[in-house]
Amino acid sequence: MGTDRPAGPGHAVAQVWHGGGGFRPTAFAVPDPAPGEVIVRVRVSTVCGSDRHTVSGRRSGPAPSILGHESVGEVAALHPDGAVAVDGAELRVGDRVVWGVTAACGRCDRCAAGRTAKCRRLRKIGHEPLGDRPLSGGFSTHVHLPSGVPITTVPDAVPDAPAALAGCAVATAVACVDAVHRRVARPRRALVCGAGLLGVASVAALAAAGVEHIEVRDVDPSRVAFARRFGATAGRVVPRNTADGTGDDGAGFDAAIDMSGSPGGVAACVAALGVGGVAVLAGSVRPHAPVPLDAERVVRGHASIVGVHNYEPAHLRDAVRLLAATASSAPWPDAVEPPVPLGLLPTLFERTPARLRAAVAPPMPEHADAGTSPA
Ligand SMILES: [Zn+2]
Ligand SMILES: [Zn+2]
Repeated sequence: MGTDRPAGPGHAVAQVWHGGGGFRPTAFAVPDPAPGEVIVRVRVSTVCGSDRHTVSGRRSGPAPSILGHESVGEVAALHPDGAVAVDGAELRVGDRVVWGVTAACGRCDRCAAGRTAKCRRLRKIGHEPLGDRPLSGGFSTHVHLPSGVPITTVPDAVPDAPAALAGCAVATAVACVDAVHRRVARPRRALVCGAGLLGVASVAALAAAGVEHIEVRDVDPSRVAFARRFGATAGRVVPRNTADGTGDDGAGFDAAIDMSGSPGGVAACVAALGVGGVAVLAGSVRPHAPVPLDAERVVRGHASIVGVHNYEPAHLRDAVRLLAATASSAPWPDAVEPPVPLGLLPTLFERTPARLRAAVAPPMPEHADAGTSPA
């Protein structure tokens, strides 16, 4: 990190978001971790699309807060009782780790049903108001992870920037491909609508699972071309704001994953299914026009339509495994811009990134506000 001085062990600096485009560097005391909690020193955080939607106002988020939920860091402190990774291994100070976006209670009916992403007492990392646990998000030198957050170690084969992507985009894509496999044992033909990071990660996961034909569609030709480098075997540039399902009847896809969130992409995914196929919808995370549904096609085609929002702890582990397994075959580093200092975070929201993600790396410069009571 050049000549920047690292934050001391008891001292964190975060970019606190105050609503709109307003960020202010603010100092916080790093707490001692309670049982099950982990303090992580952040190495790199990437700016997810949902952070951009929050800052632009297209998505509501509590302010003031510390955003950022795609990060990689090092374990800086543990409770004396320790903490374990998703695979059950004991975490140690210094381990390079990634963590999930949700902290679940582990006791409610939804957790018991294996749907911890929808826990009734859910906390969301990087989406919490400052409150008495301010260090939630990754746009900070340190993160205070509550118990119930999945954590997994990162092998040396996965550099920091791609590793950061595991916590949101790659784990969500892995969850979508898992949803496919729960309904179609051996998919051969798959369609992915939307070639942002969720889309290219889905392509990589489908290719790693041995899917032979993977078609990707996006409005942006450069994104379609980039997705081919992750294993897409066909690509199509589609017009914006049209239901591009026309001509798909009988296309015979075993699986179709919508990451575009557009009504046209959703319609295309459903229309493209062959008999017994599954459409997995994950991109529709803000309000859109309803999508007309040809129910007869769904009925006669034995089709499934599944929604996926966030993911389960095993998907985080599998996301890191996917990044490691494809580290030399897929251009993950090219998906992320070189990180800028955390102090420059606000500028990243003022422009469209040249790659799929922009990134920041602490530590902060030494001009943070003292105190923790932003106006
Ligand atoms: Zn995200
Ligand atoms: Zn729960």
